[in-house]
Amino acid sequence: MTTKAYAAQSATTPLGPSTITRPPVGDLDVAIDILYCGVCHSDLHAARAEWQGMRYPLVPGHEIIGRVSAVGKSVSRHRVGDVVGVGCMVGSCRQCVACQDGLEQYCEGPHGFLQTYNGWLDGTGENTYGGYSAAITVDEHFVLRISHSAEQLAAAAPLLCAGITTWSPLRHWGAGPGKKVGIAGIGGLGHMGIKLAHAMGAHVVAFTTSPAKIQDAKHLGADEVVVSRNPDEMAAHASSFDFILNTVAAPHDLDAFIPLLKRDGTMTMVGVPDSPHPSPGVANLIFKRRGLAGSLIGGIPETQEMLDFCAQHGITSDVEMIAMKDIESAFERMKKSDVKYRFVIDMSTI
Ligand code: NAP
Ligand code: ZN
Ligand code: ZN
Repeated sequence: MTTKAYAAQSATTPLGPSTITRPPVGDLDVAIDILYCGVCHSDLHAARAEWQGMRYPLVPGHEIIGRVSAVGKSVSRHRVGDVVGVGCMVGSCRQCVACQDGLEQYCEGPHGFLQTYNGWLDGTGENTYGGYSAAITVDEHFVLRISHSAEQLAAAAPLLCAGITTWSPLRHWGAGPGKKVGIAGIGGLGHMGIKLAHAMGAHVVAFTTSPAKIQDAKHLGADEVVVSRNPDEMAAHASSFDFILNTVAAPHDLDAFIPLLKRDGTMTMVGVPDSPHPSPGVANLIFKRRGLAGSLIGGIPETQEMLDFCAQHGITSDVEMIAMKDIESAFERMKKSDVKYRFVIDMSTI
């Protein structure tokens, strides 16, 4: 089946209209007409080959909300007409320990998990194409149920990456009542991190380099906001955090944050900048047994749990809707940290 898409033909060409082929609907597949797709900073990193191993044409997009248009004969979890979501994964080996644990993002199979875009199909080198397109076909295991209301659907799309990428580490490191949790970088991921940590009952401190975002961060649910470029404001929080989630998309000084952790506190990195952070000093880590960790998106069961939690609590993203043709200007604003707080493409405009 041919489908309209927006693709980068190389790392140096802007995204533009393109036609791609989707595979036929297999027995366990769900065919989805895409309604909305969020714009993750990863889409920009990938389209511009700021990371290694990109293949072109590249069709980004892994925050997908759509309506089921057809199902294979063995599909039991979804029906034609259902509103569903697809995130960063469309396949994994389903047999390894990680997959059995519902942590498909850490799949230990020969090719790891299959990415929604730029994924290596069956080791053949053939590319997967993401959500900047009119339709997608995905194995039912990787299709999520969406129970948000019809008016909330566009704003629910970013939950499929920004939501789960912050939910998973917040849960893993025990964000909740009595815990002081920092969220560094108030972009797509960070603004969801604030909302989710607040909903989990933690005391939330937002770290931003943009003083213009202070009021917004409070509205999003932050109890306090720190301008991270101001050393005095940072020092006031020395040795006080149980957990800091660092979503910053650019290399920066981690030693500005690590001393803010209390004994046994952890800072977890989710941002993936195009070049490394300067190496942090060891002293800040060893003297209080502090941890520096990483986390990758989230597994399918915990993604469903997060989506259901958000629907129950009325949680969505703060979004700016754009038409497909405006993607390049959205990327430009994203580079300048000027997004409030996630662009979402209205796919009827493709
Ligand atoms: P985003 O919307 O662009 O937000 C990133 C935020 O980082 C900006 O809004 C800004 O916040 C801060 N920032 C940017 N440049 C900075 C600089 N030079 N110094 C300090 N702070 C800076 O990006 P996103 O979509 O949230 O993604 C964030 C990162 O996570 C990206 O690298 C993305 O690829 C990665 N990611 C990782 C995973 C994973 O599984 N680990 C999943 C999704 C995305 P302030 O204005 O508040 O400072
Ligand atoms: Zn993403
Ligand atoms: Zn596996």
